[in-house]
Amino acid sequence: MAVTRTFSIIKPDATRRNLTGAVTAMLEDAGLRVVASKRIHMTREQAEGFYAVHRERPFFSELVDFMISAPVVVQVLEGEDAVKRNRDVMGATNPADAAEGTIRKTYAESIEANSVHGSDSDENAAIEIAFFFKPEEIVG
Ligand code: ATP
Ligand code: MG
Repeated sequence: MAVTRTFSIIKPDATRRNLTGAVTAMLEDAGLRVVASKRIHMTREQAEGFYAVHRERPFFSELVDFMISAPVVVQVLEGEDAVKRNRDVMGATNPADAAEGTIRKTYAESIEANSVHGSDSDENAAIEIAFFFKPEEIVG
């Protein structure tokens, strides 16, 4: 299996509860390496741009408000089959449906405040990484 990259966000509900390290440890234990990381407070424009694919969904404006309610930590993760590996350790979108041992089962507060984001394809990973990082900020 090839070593690939994916994009992760530790969301406001997690940074607010001081869970940056705990969440990162779960990512690392799952075989992912943090090759770029920064703590930012997203602007409304950034959050709307990042979630543009969800613009028509009923929860869009609440989701944007949530994502700018506190700092987030954006990361590039590297590992074998990184997109799937990350999605597996994140767990289902709704923590009520997430498997034991996943980040969302362990830490998420709700379907919206679900602690982490992870890219859903290699193609989207590349787009999302480029949205937040310059190539020289990623050190593998
Ligand atoms: P993410 O894209 O954040 O990794 P995901 O791929 O599991 O999560 P999506 O369907 O892409 O889920 O939804 C993006 C985000 O929108 C979710 O992570 C969650 O924060 C929020 N969201 C999704 N569905 C709902 C909903 N029904 N009500 C409120 N918020 C939602
Ligand atoms: Mg998604």
